[in-house]
Amino acid sequence: MFENAPDEVDNVIVTGKSGAGKQPRIDVLVEEYDLEQLSTGNIFRSYLGSFGEYGYDGDISQFWNEENERFVSDEEIAEGIGTDDEEVLFGLKAKYFVDRGKFVPDRITNELFKSYFGKKDYHGQVLDGYPRTVEQAEFLLDLIEEKKSKIDFVLWVRNTDEKIIERTTKRRICPKCGKVYHLKYDPPKNGKCEECGVEVIQRSDDTEEKIRSRLQEFKDKTRPMIEKLEEDIPVAEVPGHLEEFTPENVRKSVMEALTEL
Ligand SMILES: [Zn+2]
Repeated sequence: MFENAPDEVDNVIVTGKSGAGKQPRIDVLVEEYDLEQLSTGNIFRSYLGSFGEYGYDGDISQFWNEENERFVSDEEIAEGIGTDDEEVLFGLKAKYFVDRGKFVPDRITNELFKSYFGKKDYHGQVLDGYPRTVEQAEFLLDLIEEKKSKIDFVLWVRNTDEKIIERTTKRRICPKCGKVYHLKYDPPKNGKCEECGVEVIQRSDDTEEKIRSRLQEFKDKTRPMIEKLEEDIPVAEVPGHLEEFTPENVRKSVMEALTEL
């Protein structure tokens, strides 16, 4: 039915605005091409977890050099915390920014991504949340070339700001079990989780102000990133909003987009 779509792929990138509806499309690609999902969120969680397990309770800001805005060398950090375990070191670097609510600089994100992608032998991945900036895209293109790997295509899930704001600001979540509701499409009865009976809440990330700031970030940084990738890698676009949102329709729209590559 989708005979013009690629038969097999090495790696792919799924991109789009935050809240555009990437996950259902990622699920299609994972299943169709037998890939794994590699999310920056998971990379950070994994390294933060390694650092947490190691249990260093000293002040990590001593490893940050304010003057040149760099960490001191890995050797110095290793000596300071008593291990040279790479995952613990990455975790420390990530934690420094997360604790301060700061954006992680591209070169740190690149370093963490490269290490994690390397564990997967640079193959068989759906990249999710990476690259997000032009600098990250350039790093990735060089890495792919160096490791004789390949990105077959970019799938860009498109959605309007209005739809995304409606979807996300009306989202509610059960603080106990994590079940997601929507005030319009899947409202919780009496405002309570049907499983746990506790009152559903809005995630702090789902306020209109936070969403608008993520949308602006997409326009400023990620759109130019997509244009950069497009010089080397074919980009397929799929609608994030479907009139009839069923698994079959999602799959069909993804596979149709891929036949046009
Ligand atoms: Zn619940």
